Amino acid sequence: MTWIDPHCHLQLADADPMELLTRAPAVDWVVVPGIDLETSRQALALADGRRVLATVGVHPHEASKWEAERDEIVDLAPRGVGIGEIGLDYYRDLSPREVQRAAFREQLELAAQLDLPAVVHCRDAFADVFELVEATGIADRVVLHCWTGGPRWTKRFLDLGVMFSFAGPVAFETGDTVRRGAELVPPERATVETDTPYLSPPPFRNEPNEPARVALVGAALAGVWGMSPDDVARTTSAAATRIYRP
Ligand SMILES: [Zn+2]
Repeated sequence: MTWIDPHCHLQLADADPMELLTRAPAVDWVVVPGIDLETSRQALALADGRRVLATVGVHPHEASKWEAERDEIVDLAPRGVGIGEIGLDYYRDLSPREVQRAAFREQLELAAQLDLPAVVHCRDAFADVFELVEATGIADRVVLHCWTGGPRWTKRFLDLGVMFSFAGPVAFETGDTVRRGAELVPPERATVETDTPYLSPPPFRNEPNEPARVALVGAALAGVWGMSPDDVARTTSAAATRIYRP
């Protein structure tokens, strides 16, 4: 049984990225998303086109950098396999919301122009993410990463046509709402990820996360969907391949 971890910030981990990959022999390949210009460059530097792929983008926490970094991000973007991590975060509000929306909209448009998937972070901003994704008309190329929406928003985004990626929260003891949302998602519409070095699944909640733990996220989803972990690995790997290696 092998897995794909399509969302791990190896460049943000304290540990050596190559060692983390060595410790994950069951992980076929990974995608390393940028969160600003510097980390997008680092992601591209790690990418080898085989086991490590990269995406380029400015995260909502860093959206205040978008104006200054836009031109270089646009130049780098064709070297990645997607635009991300982009989106809106009204929970931590680390950049003004208007600034977040402008950066998100422009980067969704960049994904559309380059015919690349968009990797989207959505926290306490469901209505605005929905509106901007719908307006850009590329819902079928959007992956909602670390999806934590409950049934209502999951249903609305499903109907819009996006893909979902599940991370540690689906395995958390407190993850009932996430699991009730996940129940509604057809496995073909989903990937599993770690979001390394964040959100480590139990029993490693208090440790930095790493790609090897993608299997624990997959096992939690297997419970939700009533499938074998093997079938979850196969189905979500096929979905990740369609998204990032079409
Ligand atoms: Zn992330």
